[in-house]
Amino acid sequence: MPYTDAAQLCSRLIRFDTTNYGGGSSQGERGIVEYIAGLLIEAGYQPTVLGPTYERASVMLRVPGTNPDLPGLLVHGHLDVVPAEPDQWSADPFAGTIEDGYINGRGAADMKDMVAMSLATLLNWAAAGVRPQRNVVFAFVADEEDKGDYGAVWLAEKHPELFEGVEAAIGESGGTATLLEAADGSTVRLYPVATGERGTAHIQLRATGTSGHGSRPNEDNPVKHLLDALQRISNHNWPLALSKTVQSYLEQSNEALGYSVDLSTEAGVDAAVEHIGEAGEVARATIRCSATPTVLKAGYKVNVIPSVAEAEVDVRCVPDSEAETLATIDQLLGEKVSRVFLSHQPPLESPVDSQWFAAIRDALLRHDPEAVVVPHCLGGGTDAKAFAPLGIQCYGFVPHGADPEGRTYQGVHGIDERIPVSFVRTGQRILHDFLTAV
Ligand SMILES: [Zn+2]
Repeated sequence: MPYTDAAQLCSRLIRFDTTNYGGGSSQGERGIVEYIAGLLIEAGYQPTVLGPTYERASVMLRVPGTNPDLPGLLVHGHLDVVPAEPDQWSADPFAGTIEDGYINGRGAADMKDMVAMSLATLLNWAAAGVRPQRNVVFAFVADEEDKGDYGAVWLAEKHPELFEGVEAAIGESGGTATLLEAADGSTVRLYPVATGERGTAHIQLRATGTSGHGSRPNEDNPVKHLLDALQRISNHNWPLALSKTVQSYLEQSNEALGYSVDLSTEAGVDAAVEHIGEAGEVARATIRCSATPTVLKAGYKVNVIPSVAEAEVDVRCVPDSEAETLATIDQLLGEKVSRVFLSHQPPLESPVDSQWFAAIRDALLRHDPEAVVVPHCLGGGTDAKAFAPLGIQCYGFVPHGADPEGRTYQGVHGIDERIPVSFVRTGQRILHDFLTAV
């Protein structure tokens, strides 16, 4: 069997339009799922295709290790992509062209790259007769770009047996070389690996009151109750809340750049964040909780006071802070406004001092002896939130080595998404190395 090139495979996967419009509306993952399952079957594997509907399917594969007594590992990647508006792109978002050292198209960096790297690794293992030491479960899933109800959440809830014996997982966000300028002017290659995610609590607020004529104001107007509550929420200063992950991230990356830090004050944290440039801007969303009003619904006629007013608020809380955060929200809401969850996924944090993190660091160091591998926390979320309730320690690790000519990926969830060919090729080698060594 010939060697499978992950970059060519990534380009092929982009040509499946797997747009996820949200709310259950989607192009579906069936086509790509059958393509992937077909390749795996041809290589001698026995994948399982399953999902809550025919169109919204995922591919699962368990590769038995040579030492099945070792705890298992999950490798997950999503097959769907966010919408792309072709008018705004300089080329067809689903052409998957390879030009000037880049693979172009929707999903190139989020995350058909990782799916292609994983799949190429599997096909090359089959060709060379390679098996990992431990059982490795691969999950190529639907619906990450919405709520995962047709993908990871469904699989974890309805088919936990597929994940039996799995202790840790690697998936989206982390593992890419980020070039930073050190205090002495030299360049440091930082590889953040996700060990935490802020939790998501999307809440709906509801204020009830006394309806009446708009010309006769009353004190029990639900629109006013709601606005007062939203104002308190918007003006609230969330205190610094550094999780273990964020603390290690700021300390270790600053140390690598030659800066000393004091994380006990706002000013000290601010300086630590600023030293690490763009990587720090991402970290800014993880040093405290946040609550952002996003939707307002009230009234139907200008001269009528309605009896109900509603709003939606996007609440994100750092690891270990959820109960406190929700208690604060309740205080800010006051007595006139109640809340319910629209969606609720608690924060997660995996140990930094684990054998898993060490194995990730070792694989990156074998590829790049000067790599600085640091834990980091995501401000938002990934499918890891669906797998964590199964007791799985989740790490964000999609390896990409630095491009020799300084290329990087662009356009994730935006226009002209692309990823350097070198990211996908080096990444596949690092992934293979990690999966066989771990
Ligand atoms: Zn993604």
